[in-house]
Amino acid sequence: MTMQRTPLLLSRIMGRGAALDPHVEVVTLQEDGKHRQTLQATWQRANQLASALAGHGVGIGDRVASFMWNNYRHLELYQGVTSMGAVLHTLNIRLGPADLEYIINHAQDRIIFADEDLLPLLDPILDKIPSVELLVICRHGESGESAFPEQADYESFIDGQPTEYDWPEIDENSPMGLCYTSGTTGKPKGVMYTHRSTYLHTITEAMTDAMGLSARDALCGIVPMFHAMGWGLPFTASMLGCKQVMPHRFTQPDRLIGLMSDEEVSISAGVPTIWQGVMQIVQKDPDPFDLSKLDRLICGGSAPPLAMMRWYWDTLGIEMIQAWGMTETNPLGTLSRKVAKRSHLVLTEDQQFENISKAGLTMPGLEIEIFDESFNPVPHDGESVGELLIRGPWIASEYFNDPQPEKFHQDWLVTGDVAKIDPDQYLMIADRSKDLIKSGGEWISSVDLENHIVALEAISQAAVVAQPHPKWDERPVALVVLNEGQSVSTDQVLEHCVSRFARWQLPDDVIPVDSLPLTSTGKLDKKTIRANLEADGYQLPDLRE
Ligand code: ADP
Repeated sequence: MTMQRTPLLLSRIMGRGAALDPHVEVVTLQEDGKHRQTLQATWQRANQLASALAGHGVGIGDRVASFMWNNYRHLELYQGVTSMGAVLHTLNIRLGPADLEYIINHAQDRIIFADEDLLPLLDPILDKIPSVELLVICRHGESGESAFPEQADYESFIDGQPTEYDWPEIDENSPMGLCYTSGTTGKPKGVMYTHRSTYLHTITEAMTDAMGLSARDALCGIVPMFHAMGWGLPFTASMLGCKQVMPHRFTQPDRLIGLMSDEEVSISAGVPTIWQGVMQIVQKDPDPFDLSKLDRLICGGSAPPLAMMRWYWDTLGIEMIQAWGMTETNPLGTLSRKVAKRSHLVLTEDQQFENISKAGLTMPGLEIEIFDESFNPVPHDGESVGELLIRGPWIASEYFNDPQPEKFHQDWLVTGDVAKIDPDQYLMIADRSKDLIKSGGEWISSVDLENHIVALEAISQAAVVAQPHPKWDERPVALVVLNEGQSVSTDQVLEHCVSRFARWQLPDDVIPVDSLPLTSTGKLDKKTIRANLEADGYQLPDLRE
C-alpha cells in the first residue's frame, strides 16, 4: 500500500469553511429581525456542544435527536453531533404523535433538542419515550414550555465549554446521521448514514456539474433539515465556507423572497410546491424584490413542472436544477442541469429544457438500472418502463434495525419508483409504483400528465390519481387548483393534453379544488387524495348515473 488510509470522517471537513473564511455569516430569520453569527462562532459552538454532550455521557454511536426548524443551532448539531461520533437523528416536526413515539423509541434517542415553539407537539408523548434522558430547549425569544422532567436550556448547556473538541478517529463506516422515511405505507423506516457515505456525498454534491456549490455562494436551504439531512446542503456549505441563510419557521413565500433578496442568496433548494409559491408572489408583483444575485434553484422531492422551470429562466434568468433522490440515497441520486454535457452546448434552449425536465444523470460512483418483474434489465430506449434500482457508496444497504428484504435485491436498493432511461442515460421518473395508473393493462404516468396540465395558465397545481373502473381497472382523474380569478373547463384541459398524450391516456374527469393535501415533506399526498375521493363517494363521469 502506498497511500494513507485516512478515514473519511465528517470532523475533517465540517470546520473547514470556518477555518478558511471565519467571518462569513450564518443568518437566521427570527420573529423579530435576524440572528447573525459567523462561521467561526458556529464551529466553536459546535465544539462546545460536543463537549457538553460528552460531559453528559453521550458516546460514539449514541443517538441525539433534533426537533427543529432550519436555524443556526440546528447547523451546530449537524457539525458537532456528527463530528464527535454520535448520531444526529433529525425528527420530522410534521409527523403526528404516534409516528414520533414509534421513531424515537425505535431509534432509542437519548437526548432531544427542540425549538421552543415546537414543544407542544411533543407533549402527548413525553411519558412514552423512556430512552430520552434530557430535553434541550432552544429558545428564540418566543414562548413554549415543556413538562419533561429533565430539561436544559441550549445556551446554558453549552455555556463555558471549551471551544475546541478533540474529535475521535473512528471507523469511516461508523454511523453519523439517522433519518426516517415519512412512512406513507406502513411504519416509518430508518436510514442510518455513515461518515463515509455522507463525506462522499458532500463532495460530490458540490461538483460543478452537480449543484456547483462554491465558497462564493450564499445558500438558503428551504428544504427542511429533517428531510433527508436537508439534502446534504448544510454539510457541503460548512465544508466550503458558504454564507448560510436559514428561514427558521418563516417559510411563507413572501418571507422567503424577502430573505433571499436582503441576504443576496445565490442558490436555494426546496420541493416544487415552494417554488410554485414563490413564482406566484413574483408574478403578482415583481417590483419589491431584487433577486438579481439568485442564480440556481435546486428542485427535487417530486418532479418540477417544465413550465415552472422555463418561467424561472425566461423571467429571472435563474437556472432550476432538477434533482432526484430518496431518504435511502443520502439523498442525491441523479441531477439535471440545463447544459449537462459538452455535446449539449449546441442544443437549442427548447432541447435543453427537455433535458432538465428529466430526473437527470447519475452522480459519479452510483449506478442505476431499470428492471422488469423478473429482475431482467429493461432497454435504455427512453420508452421501456421498469422498476428503478440503484447502488453505490451512499445508497442504503438495509434499514436500521428493520429488515425489509423486498426493498433490496442483491446489492441494489429497490427504489419503489418506476422509470425510463433514455439512450443519453437520462433517468425519467414515471411515477411512484403505488401512484401509477393502470388502464386496460397499460400504464399511465400521473407525473407526466400533471406536469403538462400545470402549463395551462389558469392552473397552479394539478394531481392526477387513479380511480377504480370496472372495465379498465383504473382510469385517471385530475384535480386542479386554479389561479386566482381564473377558470377552466374539462374540455380545455383535455384539448391541451391531446397534443402530447394519446386519447386513452387523458383524464376521465377534471375536478377543480381549493387546495391539494401535501405530505409532511411538502409533496402531493396522493394517498389522502384517493381516500378523500372514496370517502366522498366519488364516481367517474360515465359511471355516475
Ligand atoms: P418521502 O417518502 O417523504 O416522500 P423521500 O424524499 O425519501 O421521502 O421520497 C423519495 C421519493 O420522492 C422518490 O422515490 C421519488 O418517488 C420522489 N422524487 C424525488 N425526487 C423526484 C424527482 N425529481 N422527480 C420525481 N419524483 C421524485
